[in-house]
Amino acid sequence: MAPEPGESLASWIDRLGADMRCPPGLVADDLGLRVVPGAVQRPLSLLFGITGTDEQKAAVQAATGVSAEVFDGMHLSAYDGTVLDLSDLAEDKVSVQRVWFREWALFTTSRACPACLAESGGVWMLWWRLAAAAVCPVHRLILSSHCPGCGLELRRGTERNQGIPPRELLVEPTRCANRTRNRMCGYRLTELPRVPAGEDICAAQLAYLDAAQGRPRPVADRRVDAAEWGWAFRIVCGLVRFVGQNIELPAVVPAAAAQALVEDARRRGGVSSRRLPGYRTKPRSALLATALLGFAGRVLAAGCDDELVEAMRPFGAAVVTGPGAAGCAPLWRWRMPPLVKMAVRAVFPAPMARWSRVGGHVPLPAGVDLSASRTPRRGRTAAASSRPGPGGCLEFRHLPRLVAEADYQELIEPWLRTPPGWSGRRYGALALARLCGARTWPQAGLALAWADGRATAVAEYVCEFAADPAGFWQAVTALAGRLQERGPIDYDRRRQALSTLVSIDGSVWRPVFAEYGGRLMPAGCRAAAVWLWTMLTCDELGDAPALVDPGWSTVSLKSRLRTCRNLSVWLPDALADKLLRFGQALLESHGVR
Ligand SMILES: [Zn+2]
Ligand SMILES: [Zn+2]
Repeated sequence: MAPEPGESLASWIDRLGADMRCPPGLVADDLGLRVVPGAVQRPLSLLFGITGTDEQKAAVQAATGVSAEVFDGMHLSAYDGTVLDLSDLAEDKVSVQRVWFREWALFTTSRACPACLAESGGVWMLWWRLAAAAVCPVHRLILSSHCPGCGLELRRGTERNQGIPPRELLVEPTRCANRTRNRMCGYRLTELPRVPAGEDICAAQLAYLDAAQGRPRPVADRRVDAAEWGWAFRIVCGLVRFVGQNIELPAVVPAAAAQALVEDARRRGGVSSRRLPGYRTKPRSALLATALLGFAGRVLAAGCDDELVEAMRPFGAAVVTGPGAAGCAPLWRWRMPPLVKMAVRAVFPAPMARWSRVGGHVPLPAGVDLSASRTPRRGRTAAASSRPGPGGCLEFRHLPRLVAEADYQELIEPWLRTPPGWSGRRYGALALARLCGARTWPQAGLALAWADGRATAVAEYVCEFAADPAGFWQAVTALAGRLQERGPIDYDRRRQALSTLVSIDGSVWRPVFAEYGGRLMPAGCRAAAVWLWTMLTCDELGDAPALVDPGWSTVSLKSRLRTCRNLSVWLPDALADKLLRFGQALLESHGVR
């Protein structure tokens, strides 16, 4: 008996067993699958129906003529890389459990369409084992997830849920066949309740299945790959569940499904909610999956940004009537595809500066003096060195106001999606100050002797662009380590020493510039001084003494800045080295390193 197109492995084994009047566990043995009950530790049993080995493929092909390709297509691994990620699945219980809880797949159970089962005589589709399987697009029915006879999930087998075929009993493909207390449930699954589903939800299911098969449709007129499509789908479902009691679902969602969402939210609101898995985990019932599909399907079907935002609007409204902007703090830790984030931002009822609370992740050391003063107390050094935290022995005066460009690009930039400009480098400096003990962003600004308002503005602006707060803070910690390794530089003292650097000596430097094909004019001398000052103090160009020197400020700021920019773009590396050596000597002449 050949497998039907799209059939799951367990279904095929069950049907073979029914055909031969032989328990499916023994059929699996005969095929060379070696699925041993009571030995779930054994990898082959653990991975039954999830992924097949080469030996199994060869054995099944030898025994039945079923090709490796068809055999692979009966396993959940067929969706690996699209809506599932099984890349870290190995033949051990720990990895299986990790994947089990994370992925939106029903590893040992299935959903089912009663009409399909009746027509096919008990062929169970592989896609019914996806947690987003909600409706049958052929019969326009909501799938069933639980058996009315025994109350267990379909095809669960036993309450221990081993997911492996029984060796003592026959399994009739159209009957429940779950075993509870030595009794096999004989419920006829062709008689499962038939709840009609609307056309829109069926279309959403088809779109999901397209993505599952590696043919994702564009979202808001943008091409996305199947994995990103699946990620966006799960995140939108998670957002819906987060505000589940208040959100207005599209009218196409059947009442029973809407009720399932409310109950899901109510259970989470209860006292035991801490023990429930997160909002982004797979929905355990087909009704809940239907409600989520009804909403997320419409969001992902958007043809343009406006439609996407429009489809997300009920979420924003539900935030207002439900948890409120402040109650959404857990969402600030969620990673989201950019498209979804854009839509959420557009409908969120509060300024999005509060969205990504990067500050919440700052790895503060225990015992650090948290008092924020403009110049940190002397005692802080000792406290910090006896108990070095993530900021190590660095003090505020050792911190750049602008993270050096090379450091920034290598360490920090990958974690921020900032527009070009200095904001990311400024933010890196503020983050270093947080690491060294500043408790808030404004205090970090004070520690760097910035105007209070600017620190807050930078922090609020940039934190919106943090791709991964935890990763960002690791990078900042690595940067602090690097600064320390190079030997802490006292930037306060450097600024003092260079406060009179308003120009470089034209008569000395003109011939040097000429060697590199440059003509050094008086404005160039000032611009070189600005460049040197920013390099040595790691400070912002706008604060350079040369830029604001009365001798130069007769020229418009725009023109001064243009001269500075032109110089720094042109400056050859070798000449830059010479200037830096001159600057170092200047510092040393002031007794500063
Ligand atoms: Zn059907
Ligand atoms: Zn049953």
